[in-house]
Amino acid sequence: MNRKDFLKGTGLLALSSAMLPSMSLANSYTEIADKKLKKKAKNIIFLVSDGMSIGTLTMADTLLRRKYGRGSNWLDLYRENKVSRALMDTSSLSSLVTDSAAASSSWGGGHKIPNGKLNIGANGEKYLPILQKFKSKGKKVGCVTTVPITHATPAGFCVNMDSRNNQDEIAEEYLKLRFDVMMGGGKEHFSSQDRKDKKDLFSEFKTKGFDVLRAKNELKINDKENPILGVFSTDGLPYSIDRKSDEKLNQQIPTLAEMTDFAINKMKGNKNGFVLQVESGRVDWAAHGNDIAGLLYDQIEFDDAIKKAIDFAEKDGETLVIVTTDHGNANPGLIYGNECNDNFDTVQNYKHSNAWILNNLNKESSIKDVQQQIELGCNYQLSDEQAKEILSYYTNLNAEGLYNPRHLPFQRLAEIQKEHNSVGWISMNHSSDFVELAMYGVGKELLPPFIQNADLHYLMLAVCGIENNF
Ligand SMILES: [Zn+2]
Repeated sequence: MNRKDFLKGTGLLALSSAMLPSMSLANSYTEIADKKLKKKAKNIIFLVSDGMSIGTLTMADTLLRRKYGRGSNWLDLYRENKVSRALMDTSSLSSLVTDSAAASSSWGGGHKIPNGKLNIGANGEKYLPILQKFKSKGKKVGCVTTVPITHATPAGFCVNMDSRNNQDEIAEEYLKLRFDVMMGGGKEHFSSQDRKDKKDLFSEFKTKGFDVLRAKNELKINDKENPILGVFSTDGLPYSIDRKSDEKLNQQIPTLAEMTDFAINKMKGNKNGFVLQVESGRVDWAAHGNDIAGLLYDQIEFDDAIKKAIDFAEKDGETLVIVTTDHGNANPGLIYGNECNDNFDTVQNYKHSNAWILNNLNKESSIKDVQQQIELGCNYQLSDEQAKEILSYYTNLNAEGLYNPRHLPFQRLAEIQKEHNSVGWISMNHSSDFVELAMYGVGKELLPPFIQNADLHYLMLAVCGIENNF
């Protein structure tokens, strides 16, 4: 089969991949990998900036170029013609607009599934998660993330679960799976004080031979073969811009690049190689909050993690690096206007996320408190009227909702900010946009210019020379 026939084939398959038996896709990738690849990949590093709309990628690159005179590592790979590149359809089985659980499961299990589930089909089918497949072939496997390690994106590579919300149970699954490196936030799903069943999972992980890491200074490689559980905060890790502005957090919390580096070094000596998922999960949370500083500075830290992966792959010569996102979110963008360049440059001076600003206010705060908070965070003055309006939201806060449990005025603050930074948003939720996908290293030539999310599963197996006969 030549390249043209192959692309035509996968294009047709892609149209109805959810309905097709997985073997046909698996076979087509295996066949083409056998013919096209001079060598198979030993390692895969799969990097996902969760909920990254193209505007996020664009503005992070623009911010870096205007602030530091250099581009992002992701787009420099494009500028230097070092990658294969595709658009990816991110839809799930139940919706044109996916959630993170169905999205990660499409890669993790090779099937589009309904939103909210992890590797469970519409009729209860269980699809074996990809890290379990790789582990059974002797590879070391792991995930690192800036949100709870039990959250949808890492979990989609690891477990079968009826609901993504069963994070306490997902933590227990991780104990059984004994993957080699699992690191992020999510203490509330491991500690006896926070878990509903009061089980002390940290002790259970230790008893079963894990090294349990709880602070950045514990990230030291030793020569033991112990698997690693690293949990560095109660829920998600702090936004990078807030961590950087707080010395105590800086001491406590590793960056995504530091966790990536640690995971690569922990697993790279394995003779059968390793597969690592790296997720910047709070890019998605920031998009849900229309929180520009949270969004762009976390995207930039994701970009630092890309560099760790590429530097390793370049030296190693046996690694495929995949860089992508699972869906768009809120579709932010810099909006036309005479002042838009100067306005956008003000984001360079932001010191805190909007989450930090708004969570530090309460019912008792004064107009002056609001103005001070905003000035500390984004270096500009709100009018008394605007500050009063922000405060009005605090009189009837309640505790519902997933990403904004206190119903803080994120949307209103972003609208006010737009007058100063020219950044607009279309919503506070996921979008159906096709997304960027780049591949670097061994096997990148397997990537067609348009791909279904679920097809990546078969590409990853084929590129490592693993048949999908599980
Ligand atoms: Zn997502």
